[in-house]
Amino acid sequence: MSSLPLSEDDELKLAVIAWQDALHEVPDHLLVPAWRKATRDHNWFKPFPVMAILPAYQQLIAEDRAKRQSTPHYRADGTVACRWCLDTGYVPVATYCPTGNEWYTPVYPCECAATPISQRAAVNIRADWQRNDRGQWVPSDSSTSPRCQCGFCRQRRHH
Ligand SMILES: [Zn+2]
Ligand SMILES: [Zn+2]
Repeated sequence: MSSLPLSEDDELKLAVIAWQDALHEVPDHLLVPAWRKATRDHNWFKPFPVMAILPAYQQLIAEDRAKRQSTPHYRADGTVACRWCLDTGYVPVATYCPTGNEWYTPVYPCECAATPISQRAAVNIRADWQRNDRGQWVPSDSSTSPRCQCGFCRQRRHH
């Protein structure tokens, strides 16, 4: 069987697609930290096995879990570290749904250390949000609302 006439460019593209498949369980924002961890002790005179990113990623998750379990959510003196999630790891944010033309209040993973590392950076916290008396964050209007993640809105964005 003869090999396909691939240019170097094609081969690179194929390699990237194969890596994306292999690494699809690693969220985008953790690819670089996992890669750094995996390559820290790598001898660059040998090829780097891309799959080594997976165990490094699992290790990141395990270290993060251990750290969160050893830190109590509320400190002994009653203070809280994170104003957005009160160290619960999750932030309730009033969210505008353009499809239903209504507001509702889902809970988003926070960007702080109280949140499992694989879920962080899911929502962009905005300066104009105000906390209401039920502890929910409320954008001043729909333009600073997080993007609605309901099935209808997600499908609309694909078209
Ligand atoms: Zn937080
Ligand atoms: Zn929606």
